[in-house]
Amino acid sequence: MARKNKTADQRRHLGDVAALGCIACRNAGYGESPAEVHHITSGYGTGQERNDYDVIPLCPNHHRQGEDAVHVSPARFTAQHGHELDLLEQTRRELAVYRSSFVGGLL
Ligand SMILES: [Zn+2]
Repeated sequence: MARKNKTADQRRHLGDVAALGCIACRNAGYGESPAEVHHITSGYGTGQERNDYDVIPLCPNHHRQGEDAVHVSPARFTAQHGHELDLLEQTRRELAVYRSSFVGGLL
């Protein structure tokens, strides 16, 4: 299945989410880790195209490499870091703060 080109707004959203840093690392008190975006799978059927706005920031370890990575062991990830839909809510709150910090910010 060919992927459609992303719009500028989609790319901006993905970049802003990644810029927040890994949400699992921050919640665990590890500080900020460079993140890639994880597309939420909850509520999507197999093969269904996922929404570029339903994304959370995860470092490679929490995304696809570590033993508790969401793509390695979803159950372990949820047990240790919470459900991805709760993390999505947190991401949306943080994104709003992140974006508002630019309004009237450094010039
Ligand atoms: Zn992490």
